[in-house]
Amino acid sequence: MAINWTDAQIEAVVQQVVAGIKAEKAPARKSWDSVSYCGRPFVGVYEKMEDAIAAAENGYRAVRAMTVAEREKLITIIRDMIREEAPIMAALGVAETGMGRVEHKTAKHLLVADKTPGTEDITPTVRTGDNGLTLTEMAPFGVVGSITPSINPSETVLCNSIGMIAAGNGVVFNPHPNAIATSNYAIDLINRASRKAGGPRVLVASVVKPTLESADVMYKHPSIRLLVCTGGPGVVRAVLASGKKAIGAGAGNPPVIVDDTADIAKAAKDIIDGCTFDNNLPCIAEKEVFAFDSIADELINGMLKNGAYKINAKQAEALAGIVLKDVKNPKTGVMKKVVARDCVGRDAKVLLSKIGVTVGDEVRCIICETSFEHLFVQEELMMPILPIVRVHNIDEAIELAVKAEHGNRHTAHMHSKNIDHLSRFAKAVETTIFVKNAPSYAGIGFGGEGHTTFTIAGPTGEGITSAKSFTRLRRCVMADSFRII
Ligand code: NAD
Repeated sequence: MAINWTDAQIEAVVQQVVAGIKAEKAPARKSWDSVSYCGRPFVGVYEKMEDAIAAAENGYRAVRAMTVAEREKLITIIRDMIREEAPIMAALGVAETGMGRVEHKTAKHLLVADKTPGTEDITPTVRTGDNGLTLTEMAPFGVVGSITPSINPSETVLCNSIGMIAAGNGVVFNPHPNAIATSNYAIDLINRASRKAGGPRVLVASVVKPTLESADVMYKHPSIRLLVCTGGPGVVRAVLASGKKAIGAGAGNPPVIVDDTADIAKAAKDIIDGCTFDNNLPCIAEKEVFAFDSIADELINGMLKNGAYKINAKQAEALAGIVLKDVKNPKTGVMKKVVARDCVGRDAKVLLSKIGVTVGDEVRCIICETSFEHLFVQEELMMPILPIVRVHNIDEAIELAVKAEHGNRHTAHMHSKNIDHLSRFAKAVETTIFVKNAPSYAGIGFGGEGHTTFTIAGPTGEGITSAKSFTRLRRCVMADSFRII
């Protein structure tokens, strides 16, 4: 389906919703199951988490009653509506969170529509033998509680909804407090799709003001059978400590190695393309580079030709003082560096302006040469700042890159034509995603083979999640019968 919104129409919806967020501390209640942002109703959004869970239970019953073909029809409608409304959700995400780039967020929504697996992902297996036939099926858990991030808000809601519904589950969301309207827009979209498909008015649900307390209600509620958490280390820890079956998709800090056999011009372009995608918000995006000394100058020149701006050591210190803040741990009193939220996902030119450098829109990435110990290497910044560390050989490159990944086992990248180097790094870093000779987003199916997800579950091992990740295996045994040979 073609995207047929004009810029003026997109702007009108975004203004309506954003004005609603700003004007009304709490958006107007439209009815008991919906809220309205300046007259635009979002259905499936409740005051209390308990009511949202009750609605999601009804949604679960409705999904259970559907045939697989009916579920697939609903998912097709969801895909079409995502394609249709991608530019709106993209613009809304940027307007509400202040992070990312509209054109890239639009592409991420289209990726969700095109490459999130549906019911075809749920495949039963059969084993036959002397003792008869055993059938193993992928069954739903029931109602899934999903915690979603601010960096891919509607993308995560939509991708998780498709997978969870395809698997036969209901879903209740506790969206990120900084992306409530964008996330709830996506929840409303799923509910509109449900009504179009002849399903219930509310299929998936959410709350008007998600908080850590509403998340806690979700963790403890007896109706929630599976928790799926997409976010930083704090929230993943909290979900894994809940005592329930949980899928944790946590933080990353993806390193990139470039050795002396790589196509350097291509590596430079790929790294800048990946690093600047949605202003470096994706958890898989290139966060630090380890370049062989022998090719580092050529690599940096290639990056400069592709929209990078190089800052010197003094400027890097000034920028570090702005994008990382000292925060005292209230319990221990220990000072800690924390990424400044008002710098996350911002354009390179905005970040440069903070240190007095004025550039145009052609600059999309800030690069600098640093030591391995530099905070730009060690911290997951989620903004288009890319530190480059020179290394002498593959041993040093692998050792430092593995350390910089901090054991997240999330994502790593390498540009090389040396199969031994590629294999050694892949084995050493043990990440869920390892991308060779391409921008990072190839790892989630954008210009690379394979399905997409915005919930990459490293800590709990489901990997590139899809419908089957949200199922439990059930076995049915027919002893001594049902063979046909
Ligand atoms: P975040 O970690 O700030 O918050 C995620 C969600 O969890 C929000 O709803 C927030 O309110 C809630 N939350 C935070 N701490 C909580 C706690 N202790 N208990 C309950 N709820 C809590 O998310 P963000 O800033 O939007 O995302 C950034 C982080 O998420 C990065 O570290 C990034 O790498 C990671 N991330 C990972 C994936 C993945 O697929 N692995 C995807 C997206 C984001």
